[in-house]
Amino acid sequence: MTRIWNFSAGPAVLPAEVLEQVKDEMLDWHGAGCGVMEMSHRGKEFTSIIETAESDLRALLGIPANYKVLFLQGGATQQFAQLPMNLLPAGGSADYLVTGSWSKKALKEAQHVAAGIASVRNAGSTEAAGFTRNLDAGEISIDANAAYVHLCTNETIHGLELDCSRLPQAGAPLVADMSSHILSRPVDVSKYAMIYAGAQKNVGPSGVTLVIVREDLLGKAWKTIPSIMDYAVMAENGSMLNTPPTFAIYVAGLVFQWLKRQGGLAEVEKINRHKAELLYACIDESEGFYRNPVRIADRSRMNVPFTLLRPELDAAFLAESKAAGLASLKGHKSVGGMRASIYNAMPTDGVRTLVEFMNDFRKRNA
Ligand SMILES: *Cc1c(COP(=O)(O)O)cnc(C)c1O
Repeated sequence: MTRIWNFSAGPAVLPAEVLEQVKDEMLDWHGAGCGVMEMSHRGKEFTSIIETAESDLRALLGIPANYKVLFLQGGATQQFAQLPMNLLPAGGSADYLVTGSWSKKALKEAQHVAAGIASVRNAGSTEAAGFTRNLDAGEISIDANAAYVHLCTNETIHGLELDCSRLPQAGAPLVADMSSHILSRPVDVSKYAMIYAGAQKNVGPSGVTLVIVREDLLGKAWKTIPSIMDYAVMAENGSMLNTPPTFAIYVAGLVFQWLKRQGGLAEVEKINRHKAELLYACIDESEGFYRNPVRIADRSRMNVPFTLLRPELDAAFLAESKAAGLASLKGHKSVGGMRASIYNAMPTDGVRTLVEFMNDFRKRNA
């Protein structure tokens, strides 16, 4: 068996160590006589799996005791709708910062579900700048009475990242979509009212979505929303009002344990910073052969989009990289070019192999 170097944006590479463990436990989890996919979510085995997953996630992120951790379904996209239903009271207003495709989608969906109920404002956008940078302080106009301010701290398609030391001074609760960089670096959870993330970028398989929400914000959901979409109801029921995505939660839990074995997020961040430096250096030192359009301070360590000076070489780049075992480098259709997603589970050797290929391809085609 040969595994590719997988640069997919999501579903994405998982740690080989975790997949080996899943394989070993597939038919018989810890002497249960069956695998995790086959056991009751109410039994003591799965109860221990979800409780361990939650406590490991709390330890990794340093989640304060006054925050609930929910394991939900529907992806981050469902959160685009569920968030206003829960945290935006009728007649109230929420502010959205738009720095890329994902935050733009979040704004649109909130406007859609809240139409006629509450107002959802665009409080600043870098769309005119082609989403090549985060917002500067002067470009943001936040309503201090906003129920919350939504932002996406890692724009997966445009390759922008914002760390929590550079958050806007909102004066209103901050809600962050961290789908594509959660657990890639330490985060001060207390700076946010809520954090959410679909799992299939940096956490585990698709099917589970993490929601970390401050307790005092719960209980204000619109009266007629389905119970399954009410954070307070899900919190009261330990994310098990109905059958949760058991297998996805189990694998995510193994990824949390793997991250703890790396030494936690401060150590993981060092590795991620190094990987990103290798790749951006290759791009920046290519004399324009490769180009990343994002303002340097705003560049993502997880998703690195780049274009070739001569787009007529794109097809050869993709074919030859694939032949060299480097997969899924085609950029998102909305921005074109290439994109290398280098999540936690992408080993440094994978990035080195990519950089060697890119340098070699440039020499042959410059
Ligand atoms: C992938 C992604 C989403 C959508 O996630 P789904 O789980 O497919 O709904 C939302 N936000 C960001 C930042 C993403 O990267």
